[in-house]
Amino acid sequence: MIIIQGMEGTPIRDEARVGTQRIEAGIHMADSKELLTKISDASTESEFFSPIPANYKKGKTRYVFVMGTVMSGLGKGIFSSCLAKLLQDKGLKVAPIKLEGYLNIDSGTLNPFRHGEVFVLDDGMETDMDLGTYERILDQDLSRANFATSGQIFNSVLNKERHGDYLGRDVQMIPHVTGEVKLRLRELAAETKADVVFVEIGGTVGDLENAYYIEAMRELAYEEGPGSSCFVALTYIMEPPALGEQKSKAAQLGIKQVMQLGIQPDIIVCRATNPVNDKARQKISVYSNVPFERVISLHDSASIYMIPSMLRDNGLDFEVLRLLKIEDRINLRHERKAWAKWCDFMDKIGNSKYEVTIGITGKYTSVRDSYASIINAIEHAGIALGCDAKLKWIETTSITDANVAKHLADVDGIIVPGGFGSRGTEGKIACIKYARENNLPYLGLCFGFQMAVLEFARDVCGLKNANSTELDSNTPEPVIDILPEQKKIEGLGGNMRLGGRDIKIQPQTLAWDLFGKKDTIRMRFRHRYEVDPRYIEVLQKNGLVFSGKAPDQPIMQILELPKHPFFMGTQAHPCLTSRPLRPQPMFVGLVAAAMRRHHLDGDLPNCIEAVKKVCAATEA
Ligand code: GLN
Repeated sequence: MIIIQGMEGTPIRDEARVGTQRIEAGIHMADSKELLTKISDASTESEFFSPIPANYKKGKTRYVFVMGTVMSGLGKGIFSSCLAKLLQDKGLKVAPIKLEGYLNIDSGTLNPFRHGEVFVLDDGMETDMDLGTYERILDQDLSRANFATSGQIFNSVLNKERHGDYLGRDVQMIPHVTGEVKLRLRELAAETKADVVFVEIGGTVGDLENAYYIEAMRELAYEEGPGSSCFVALTYIMEPPALGEQKSKAAQLGIKQVMQLGIQPDIIVCRATNPVNDKARQKISVYSNVPFERVISLHDSASIYMIPSMLRDNGLDFEVLRLLKIEDRINLRHERKAWAKWCDFMDKIGNSKYEVTIGITGKYTSVRDSYASIINAIEHAGIALGCDAKLKWIETTSITDANVAKHLADVDGIIVPGGFGSRGTEGKIACIKYARENNLPYLGLCFGFQMAVLEFARDVCGLKNANSTELDSNTPEPVIDILPEQKKIEGLGGNMRLGGRDIKIQPQTLAWDLFGKKDTIRMRFRHRYEVDPRYIEVLQKNGLVFSGKAPDQPIMQILELPKHPFFMGTQAHPCLTSRPLRPQPMFVGLVAAAMRRHHLDGDLPNCIEAVKKVCAATEA
């Protein structure tokens, strides 16, 4: 769109990304030679280096910068998305972006055990789990323009250098790398025409790896001028049990570090276990030049969906509008409607008549972040159905056909989620067999879909040796095999079958009913393996129904068992598109079926009726 970059040699492996997407791995493709010249001139003649997209309108977009002090894990993404939601409710267009310090090009190669789940966007970008929070809270699909890593930034700078874009200049952290960061933000602003861009800086102030991001923010605020931006510092107020009082020193030191970088925070958000008392807030205010009313308490809350309300009660939405001088852009009628909907949703939280326990089998059972979207999707479904859906984590390495009944005795439904590699898979298959034979509601997600196919092939179709070539490359019955397009691929980064794809739904199936009798739906994918098309016939003959398929390839996407109360699997990750006000139908179906099983109440709606009711309510 804007700048010519060295595209030669940039491997683009997935056609879905080419064409509509202008950005691959943070390398910006281009059409405007004019701007290129401008950049080159700037870099040789002047110290002011700040490439600006041709379609950028200065003053249209304001910026909110969110950074963390004292420690990581403060919930910067949650805070930022909730504040963005309050402005979105007022009819403003908001665009979030997360800036990651690490050098990976995307999050796809990160271990979920260390970093939380890999969240896949519709355009196939593999991102940090915070992007999931933004999508859920804002009910907005994001793209790769909303996610940057140091890897992308440096990749782009180095490509430009090789392309000769900097001419005789020595390429420096300042102004070139910071210039690249500012460019990313302004591109996002120009592309989305956002009123406010919310920039979340990963890590903690003081980390070497995000220091240049913070410098870029300072420069951007300076260039855009007064009233253009607002800096928010999140901090943590400790309350050591031995002292029994809140201590603000660490917070003060953290904020001092921000100020040493030339940034005066406008708002300070104090994370804490309990509401932060006035004394601690006053101390922070005095030491940071931030007015007392803009030092706010953001203590732990039972549900993240309550946080927009906490921020609103603190008047933070209007403080930000005033700081950014955009009070005149808001639409109060829009806000009344949006807020009423959100309040109805909040009223249902913690107010449930029913309860169920959903078992989740998984390798990363000790780290909840690895399954953040699934946990959210179950919560959305539970809230919509007036049901407290509890989770039970099931480690499957020691589960066998002999002891599976004991492990699943107290669950009303199970999910086998996505996964890679063979650890615990035989235990997962034993769980699926038990669910199939005992009418226990089952939802298989991606790997869980593949394992359900294997179980059915082995036990119902008599293919005793059925396996996935991911688990046994020499299996005589490769019922699950690598996708043909994946065979040619080398390396592991960004090259699975990724992102949103259309799925053709077979009429008169459970899927057809759950998805409102739509012929085509869309879900997001992240896989290398699939049902080998040679086995489709035998599986179907024995009663397995493939109710969702890729429109123009023999890739099976949804399976179900007609006589079972709820037995579904999907090659996709439906959890990624579940939203608080629009719960994903497969999860609603699972929880509804589990409710009937738990409460032994035939008067409760079956999964189809339940989904219809929920959809009618959310569309109202
Ligand atoms: N490992 C399987 C595959 O690559 C499933 C992937 C997943 O569950 N995301 O196809």
